[in-house]
Amino acid sequence: MLNPAVAQYIQTHHEQMLAELAELIRFESLADAKDPDGCTPCAEWIAGRLGSLGMTADVVPAAGPPVVLGEWHVDDALPTLLCYAHYDVQPADPMEEWLSPPFEASVRDGRIYARGVTDDKGQLFAHMAAVEAWVEAVGQPPCNIKVCFEGEEEVGSPNMEAFLAEHRDRLAADALIITDEGFYDLTTPAVRYALRGLCYFEVTFTGPPVDLHSGLAGGVVRNPANALAAMIGKLHDENGRVQIPGFYDHVAPVSDAERAEWQAIGDVDSHLKQQFRVDVLTGGEAGYSALERLGARPTCDCNGIVGGFTGSGSKTVLPASATAKVSMRLVSEQDPQTVINGFKAFVAAHTPAGIRSEVTVAAAARPVMLDREQPAMDAARLAFRDVFDTEPVFMRMSASIPITELFQRVCGLDAVVTGFAQPDAALHSPNENLRLEQLWAGIEFLAAFYQHLAETDDSA
Ligand SMILES: [Zn+2]
Repeated sequence: MLNPAVAQYIQTHHEQMLAELAELIRFESLADAKDPDGCTPCAEWIAGRLGSLGMTADVVPAAGPPVVLGEWHVDDALPTLLCYAHYDVQPADPMEEWLSPPFEASVRDGRIYARGVTDDKGQLFAHMAAVEAWVEAVGQPPCNIKVCFEGEEEVGSPNMEAFLAEHRDRLAADALIITDEGFYDLTTPAVRYALRGLCYFEVTFTGPPVDLHSGLAGGVVRNPANALAAMIGKLHDENGRVQIPGFYDHVAPVSDAERAEWQAIGDVDSHLKQQFRVDVLTGGEAGYSALERLGARPTCDCNGIVGGFTGSGSKTVLPASATAKVSMRLVSEQDPQTVINGFKAFVAAHTPAGIRSEVTVAAAARPVMLDREQPAMDAARLAFRDVFDTEPVFMRMSASIPITELFQRVCGLDAVVTGFAQPDAALHSPNENLRLEQLWAGIEFLAAFYQHLAETDDSA
């Protein structure tokens, strides 16, 4: 159970905490490669706030936006927890769809509305509030605390690998919590122990030097749009299995125990249909459950196709070229480079006479599996039980948070990936919001997590 004095401090300081979060919201901290200094005032505010709590804190320059590093060392005998969150946010547009200004915290119907209030400033702020509660109520945190708050997560953390390598010693810890995630449904917390990787491509098929008259050339000149669509159509067989050579090498099967655990979650299909507002869940490979297809099987999707004439009315052309964006989500031990090689070979094999194909790689990230047996996983379970009175579900995550894999590979740290974002938080969308009750409980959860980590580590 969370220390009662700490819980009471949080419960009696809601107003002050809300005012501070509103200050943090006010910074338009967009990670913009053209303006890396644009995030600095936000980073300085955070470091100043950590300093006033009694932590050592610095705004550390990086190749991109600066990173805030902070520390409270209590005792060598206690475990050290590294807390990660990001202070950069998604752009606010389309502006006209916001019911209140995106960079002003507006409280309506028990929710705070603002860009970044959940993703991820609210979850970053919750660490500061939880540390404050421990310091004010007890005098110090229950374990050693370090923080790493980055400013370019929303653009894929392109400079963080170098940053982590350079500051590995300063980031050394016994456990890592990444609070950039959320609940499974409105009442059930979730902990993620695997994240998918990513390969992202642009493919262009080029035929004649200019768009031709389809009446004059159609039938004798190869149409790049037809050829591109045919190639995309062959990426999956009739059972949804991806046809790229070597694609399933290194995809590990799921254990019976893991499958049983997912089954116990309940009616996942109905939950997902509701979440995506669809009638059937037919995407992906035949013979696997929806959760397995989402978390433990790799996927391949065409994200968009352009080429030729797409305006209103009709214009009879045979296009000179057509372009598609194609992405893959990777799992277990799949290596992005193997997938890149396989996809290039697949495209070459499906480029017919009369067409030139070009493949460019836009992004690549490895999948990651995290250690589920570490004490921090149990600390998260106990802390959720304390505050939300329910067990969290342990799940694989279908999306990617690139820093998770970097922390593991560069720093040797397996994260607990979790958080208190509610499913209806409108992340990245207009009117992003956070329920006030969820914020207060989220702060209590983190305060309890620090405490359980300090306790569980004894038995480790
Ligand atoms: Zn985020």
